[in-house]
Amino acid sequence: MNKIILLNTLDNFKVIQLFGLTDFAKENGHKYYRAYGGRHPGIDYTLKTYSDRLVRAVHSGVIVKDDDIDDSGAGINLSLFCPEQLIATKYFHLVNNNINEGDRIAAGDVLGIMGNTGASEGIHLHFGLYRTDSQAIIINKDNGLKGAINPFDFDFVYWHEWDGRSAA
Ligand SMILES: [Zn+2]
Repeated sequence: MNKIILLNTLDNFKVIQLFGLTDFAKENGHKYYRAYGGRHPGIDYTLKTYSDRLVRAVHSGVIVKDDDIDDSGAGINLSLFCPEQLIATKYFHLVNNNINEGDRIAAGDVLGIMGNTGASEGIHLHFGLYRTDSQAIIINKDNGLKGAINPFDFDFVYWHEWDGRSAA
């Protein structure tokens, strides 16, 4: 398993739900997570202060999904694909944004604003990590979590300390 490096661009964010079999996910077989075997397929963050709700890209890449319509559990959401690392990261429950499919993104670029769209019980960011093939197709989708893997199994590097090299 090759290493994945995610830049920690989430300075103002604090974790409110970890990955996998969390207490919230277990609560009465939580409705949000039935499709994931009762597990949470990402990390949920809220804010330390309300001064900065900016959601920034944790790696470089290209936007492969830009869903601006708040009609699913994910709400307004983006998917960012990194062809060097063969990963994609997903950002759910955003406020509407100016990002479009095909946009090239540098690590640290602002993707949007943390919001409360979709299946959300308060302003927060659901952050998901996936391995992909070279065409940005998620692999291992039969892992019970539709391919989601735990971001905290990998290194987060503070982006102001990053030397700019790809982690591929
Ligand atoms: Zn979540």
